[in-house]
Amino acid sequence: MAHRVTLIPGDGIGPELIEATRRVLEASGVAFDWDIMDAGADVMEQYGTPLPDVVLESIRANGVALKGPITTPIGTGFRSVNVAIRKALDLYANLRPSRSMEGIPVCHPDVDIVVVRENTEGLYAGIEHDVIPGEAAESIRIITRRGTERIVRFAFEYARANDRRLVTAVHKANILKATDGLFLKVAREVAQDYPDIEFNDRIVDNMSMQLVQRPHEYDVLVCPNLFGDVISDLCSGLVGGLGVAPGANFGQDLAVFEPVHGSAPKYAGQNKANPTATILSGVLMLRHLGEKAAADRVEDAARAVIAEGANVTYDLKPKRDDPSAVGTKEMADAIITAMR
Ligand code: NAD
Repeated sequence: MAHRVTLIPGDGIGPELIEATRRVLEASGVAFDWDIMDAGADVMEQYGTPLPDVVLESIRANGVALKGPITTPIGTGFRSVNVAIRKALDLYANLRPSRSMEGIPVCHPDVDIVVVRENTEGLYAGIEHDVIPGEAAESIRIITRRGTERIVRFAFEYARANDRRLVTAVHKANILKATDGLFLKVAREVAQDYPDIEFNDRIVDNMSMQLVQRPHEYDVLVCPNLFGDVISDLCSGLVGGLGVAPGANFGQDLAVFEPVHGSAPKYAGQNKANPTATILSGVLMLRHLGEKAAADRVEDAARAVIAEGANVTYDLKPKRDDPSAVGTKEMADAIITAMR
């Protein structure tokens, strides 16, 4: 039976990446019944909002969505549609795996780190206002026992289900004594329920340095919202950049799969962006749907194409202006061919 999945192309480079990913996923042999939904700046005129209710209703009904990036105006304009989807559907856990790939030159080989980012609280609660307009502004950082307990439990459950050995809590509890003090206290309490998995903690600045110098010492990282956003981009950089970094958002019964990267407007419509991050987000989705064999087929094919190095986009070439780089569509074609 076909899996009914909400498909949100997004904007910027989103539509071309989602199209490439859709073709690759369908070539894996799994049948999909796509429920295509538009969101972002382009639907403002029609619906008066960048996130129409029908989009959320579709995700609620189908339980699973694959999503391209959506642009957020900087400083002014509407609030992030991406954050709004996560909050509206209470997608509290953001999973961002970073695993080295043969063929991508990096400082450290064999990196394999999973960032679990709290997705609904912290500084992304969006509670901010001008204190004196143009002079001072204030943002409120929310950390709750409930929010921390469920994200840390998610990290340990993920570690247990995926044979990982260590969970590290990332925080700034030395300075943010109330908020991150609570985060660390609750993390330590939850860790006691998982004696089979090691637990430690790191202050976020030290964590950043250690990830650059000794990434092999780390396994699963659990972070409050903003630190998780920053640290996961750092981890993407360790394995080849945003072009190969997949992501997933999980709630109680819903899951939305999307790359870590944004809409890169400067490359929109140019058939230039790397589809790997979106395709690997699709691999996470296949695993979530119980399609393990198809997930392995797609991932192995993507890794083979990257290892071979011929049919890859500009960002995976040793020099960014390498004329032998292929486009989004051609890289997806090569992955489909490798699968066959
Ligand atoms: P970005 O991730 O869009 O781009 C940063 C840089 O990374 C780009 O200039 C490009 O060089 C590179 N890059 C990103 N994706 C790539 C790909 N697939 N292939 C090759 N190179 C790639 O980040 P940004 O420029 O900070 O943000 C652009 C817009 O995207 C903003 O409006 C931002 O709010 C939004 N955004 C959306 C999401 C999301 O939809 N979940 C996430 C992050 C940013």
